[in-house]
Order: sequence, then structure tokens, then C-alpha cells
Amino acid sequence: MFLEKGALYIVATPIGNLADMSQRAIDVLSHATLIAAEDTRRTGQLLKHFNINTACLAVHEHNERDICERLIGRLMNDESIALVSDAGTPLLSDPGFHLVRAAQEAGIRVIPIPGPSALVTALSAAGLPTDHFCFEGFLSSKAGVRHKQLESRKTVSETLIYYEAPHRILSTLETMLDVFGANRPMVLAREMTKTFETFLRGTIGEVLQRVRDDSNQQKGEMVILLHGAPTPDAAEVDPQTERFLRVLLEELPVKQAARLAARISGKKKNILYKRALEIQGRSGVAGLAGDKEQEPGH
Ligand code: SAM
Repeated sequence: MFLEKGALYIVATPIGNLADMSQRAIDVLSHATLIAAEDTRRTGQLLKHFNINTACLAVHEHNERDICERLIGRLMNDESIALVSDAGTPLLSDPGFHLVRAAQEAGIRVIPIPGPSALVTALSAAGLPTDHFCFEGFLSSKAGVRHKQLESRKTVSETLIYYEAPHRILSTLETMLDVFGANRPMVLAREMTKTFETFLRGTIGEVLQRVRDDSNQQKGEMVILLHGAPTPDAAEVDPQTERFLRVLLEELPVKQAARLAARISGKKKNILYKRALEIQGRSGVAGLAGDKEQEPGH
């Protein structure tokens, strides 16, 4: 494979399972003149696995701005440089933004080599609405700021997606319960593509309880997905009617469930129908569902 001279390749790498590495990613990394890597030791392991001998240079959040100029100089000299992060797609909560900007400003072609990303992987299997979503990246490490950040998203109707570190998961879920209420549906996607891949689906209250009770659920890499805020109509559905509706939806088609819930609660059928459709938009959230229950400490 011949690489374009003087081009910057943005290469996605696996988020756990090495079999997710694309052939194009292997080809580009094998033939690039240089690999700019977030952590050269970590990328070194990946390269070793695929028998790639290309030289690596560390480009991380602390030196990215300084090293940009050097890399742009090399690109102007017709070298082909590949940028990778520790896992997934560079620039997504990872370094690379300044380099891509500088390359574009210098008239250098930037070529994406698509592949895994925890954000899209989580969204694709969570069962929450995917038509509109907001990727929020990492919340602040400071509890007070985190609270404010979440407050500012309280009425957002799109699915919200957060990356989170294991040592903060309990405290973040507690803050989410505080801000969004115990009944907001959510999914905790953990260790995706790895041995202990787990999707915990339920309300914030249910998932928090599960994570509190089982310390294994506090380990590994994780993505938090929150259902968006209910539409004003759906907000009219009180918690008891919501519970009826969810139980009925487990057994009946949407129309029938909405009709019965309307008869039981005295609420308007069209509002319950709308709410039922929203609930259906995120399969498997009627009760807490975990795809993997047990795992040894790791
Ligand atoms: N650039 C990467 C991407 O494309 O997803 C993400 C890098 S970010 C520094 C790392 C965060 O992504 C982790 O803290 C976690 O929130 C999430 N993540 C990465 N791999 C994951 C996995 N296998 N399962 C669950 N979450 C993962």
C-alpha cells in the first residue's frame, strides 16, 4: 500500500479487542514514516502484535502544541504521519485537535482511517434513542463543577453520553440521581469488546443501587448514557402511571398498552401513547438488565 506523501492520517485503533483493528489501519501504520502516539509504550504493544516496526513519537496533551510545529515541518517535507491515541478514535477525549487544525491551516491533507470509538460502540448497543445525541466527554474531576455541568444538561432532550473513570462512577451516579431524578432511564456500558463487557440498563436509581451493591461494576472502562429529558407531554405522566405503562409494555403492543394505561389511570390516551413510544425507543429498560452479572475482580 502506498501512502499519500505529506499527508496526516488519523487512525482509529481498538478499544479492547485487537480483532477490531482494521486492515487499513494496519497498512497505514506499517507504511507511515512516523507514528505520533499518545503513549508510545502502549502503542508499542499494539504495533508489536501486528508486527509493525514504524518509529513512534509521543504526542500527548502536555506537548501537543509544542510538537505540532515539528510535525508540520516533517509533513511539509513529504513525510506521511499517522496519529493514534491509546484506544479508539484520536481527538475524541484524546489529543490531536491542535495537530489537525495546524495541518489544515498549513494546507496539509488530513485523512481519517475510521474504526472503533467507545462513544459509538456504547450508543449502538445501549438501546437508547440514537437519532439525536450529545457527546459530553469527561465531566470535571471536581464534584461542585460536575454538579453544575450536569444541571446545565437537565432539560436536554437528546441522549447524553459521558466517559467516566472507575474511581468516580459512584459519586457521578449519585450526582446524576440528584440532578436528573431516580427515574431517568440510563445505561452503563462497561469494558466493551473485552471479556467482562457489561451493559447495565435501568433507571438511574436502579443502576446506582446495582453499582453500589457489586464492586465489580465499579471497575474497568465505562461509558454512561442517559435518556434525554422527557418531552413536556410525557412529563405529565405521573410515576404510578409510568410504572403501569412500563409493565403493560412488557406484555402488550404500544397501542394496547397505552389504551389500558389510560383506562386505569384516567390520563389521556394520546399522551400515554407518546410516552409508550419514547419508552420503546430504548429497549430493555423496563427493569434493570445486565448482560453479564458476575466477574472475578480484575
Ligand atoms: N478516543 C477514545 C474513543 O474513541 O472512544 C476514548 C478515549 S478516552 C481518554 C477513554 C475513555 O473512553 C474511558 O475512560 C472510557 O470512558 C471510554 N472507553 C474506552 N474504552 C472503553 C471500553 N472498552 N469500554 C467502555 N468504555 C471505554
